[in-house]
Amino acid sequence: MKDRQALLRRLPSVDSLLARSEVQQLVRDYSRDLVVGAIRWQLNEARRAILASALVDIGEGALVQGAAGELRRQQKSTLSPVINATGVIIHTNLGRALLSKSAQAAILAAAGVYNTLEFDLETGKRGSRLAQASGILRDLTGAEDALVVNNNASALILILSGLAKGRQVIISRGQLVEIGGGFRIPAILSESGAELVEVGTTNRTRIADYEDGLSEGSAMLLRVHSSNFKQVGFVEQPSLQELTALAREHGLLAVDDLGSGALLDTARFGLDHEPTIQESVAAGVDLVCFSGDKLLGGPQAGIIVGKADALARLKRHPLARALRVDKLTYAALIATLEHYRRDEALEQIPVWRMISRSPNDIRTTAERWAAQVGGAVVSGESTVGGGSLPGTALPTALLALECDSPNRALEKLRGADPPVIARIAENRVLLDPRTVLPEQEADLLTALESVI
Ligand SMILES: *Cc1c(COP(=O)(O)O)cnc(C)c1O
Repeated sequence: MKDRQALLRRLPSVDSLLARSEVQQLVRDYSRDLVVGAIRWQLNEARRAILASALVDIGEGALVQGAAGELRRQQKSTLSPVINATGVIIHTNLGRALLSKSAQAAILAAAGVYNTLEFDLETGKRGSRLAQASGILRDLTGAEDALVVNNNASALILILSGLAKGRQVIISRGQLVEIGGGFRIPAILSESGAELVEVGTTNRTRIADYEDGLSEGSAMLLRVHSSNFKQVGFVEQPSLQELTALAREHGLLAVDDLGSGALLDTARFGLDHEPTIQESVAAGVDLVCFSGDKLLGGPQAGIIVGKADALARLKRHPLARALRVDKLTYAALIATLEHYRRDEALEQIPVWRMISRSPNDIRTTAERWAAQVGGAVVSGESTVGGGSLPGTALPTALLALECDSPNRALEKLRGADPPVIARIAENRVLLDPRTVLPEQEADLLTALESVI
C-alpha cells in the first residue's frame, strides 16, 4: 500500500508534462486543450494501473507516448477506408454496398451547389423531390408509384404505422424473423401500433391458414422475405399471387418486404434466385419495400413501390416527412437506377461487377499477388452478404498464406494503412481478390509484404 502511495506521488503533474519539448510539438499539431485532455486521461489510466498492481512505475516518456496515442485514436475517423479482402460483397460492418463512380460524382455535384431538389424549372414553382427517382423506379419495376425513405426498416415502420395502426396484420410463423441487430418483425409491428396475427407453423403455412386468420380487424397480409436464413426440407409457403388474391377478395392490403430488392436475376451467376422487385410488382401486391444499399447497389435508403392509392396514403403520413431522405441520397440513388435503365449495371455498379466477375479473372489476380508476396492460390467461395442469399456462394480463387500465427497476422493486417480485412481458414490467412478494388491492390501488397 505504501509503495502504491509512493508511486502515485511520483506521477508528474500535467504542467510538468506540458513543458516537455515533444509535448509542445503535440500542442502545435493538435491544440492545447486536446493535449491537456489526453494527458489527464493518460494520468488517470496510470493511477488506475498503480492501484490495480503496486509494481507499475510509469516514466514520463511512456506517459507522453500514451497521451500521443490517445490523440491519434481520437483523430481517426470512424469512416476510415479499409481494404475488404474477405470476399463478402455486401459487408454489413464495412459499409454495405459501394457506390458506382457516377453515383459518387452525383453526390459531389449535389453537395456544394444549389439544385432543383424541390424546384420545377418550367413553372418556377415548388417541385417534388421524388419525381425523378419515382419515374425511373416506375420504368424499372412496372409499379404505379414509388416513395423513398431512410432505410428499409423505416419503410416497414411507415407502411405498418400508416396503413395498419390499431388493426391486424397477418404473417406466417415462418416469417417472424430477426433481420439483424435486434431488428425483429414482431417488435416492429407492436412499435407501429399494429396487431400481429400469426398463422401456420414454422415450416409450413398454406393460404387456408391466412384465411383462418382473417377477422373484422384485419388490415394487411404481410410477407417478409427470409433474407438471412434458408429453410429446406418439409417447407411450404403460398405464392405471392395467392396472397394477393386473398387480400383482394377481402379488401385488404398485400405487402411484400423483399429485404434485398434485386432488379437483376442472381441465378444468372450460379447463385440461388433472389426474388426480384419486378416479380413482386407483377404478382399484384399493393406495396413492395426493399433496401437501397443491398443488391440494388446504391445508397442507404428504403424504397417502397406499388399501387398509387396506397402510396398516396403513405406520402401524406407525418412519418413520411420524418423519414425522408437527403438530396445526397437522391443524387446517388438516381445515378444508380440510371445504370439499370441503360443496361450497364453489371459493369458500373460495384455490387454487380463483383458478383459477375469471372473466376478466371479472379484467379489471374490471385496469381499475380502470389508471384509478388508468395503463398498459394487455392479455390474457395465468396459470398454476397448483406443478409441476402444465405447458403449460396460464388466460386472464387484465394491467396492463401501460411503463417505461424494467423490471428496475429490478421491483427497486423488490420493495423496496416489502410487496414486490410481478411479471414482465416484451416490455419491460413485467406485473401479474396473479388472484393479488393484495383486501385487498392498496391497498398494491399505492401501490407502483405510487411506482415509476412
Ligand atoms: C435488410 C432487411 C431489412 C432492413 O433493411 P435496412 O435497409 O437495413 O433497414 C428489412 N427486411 C428485410 C427482409 C431485410 O432483409
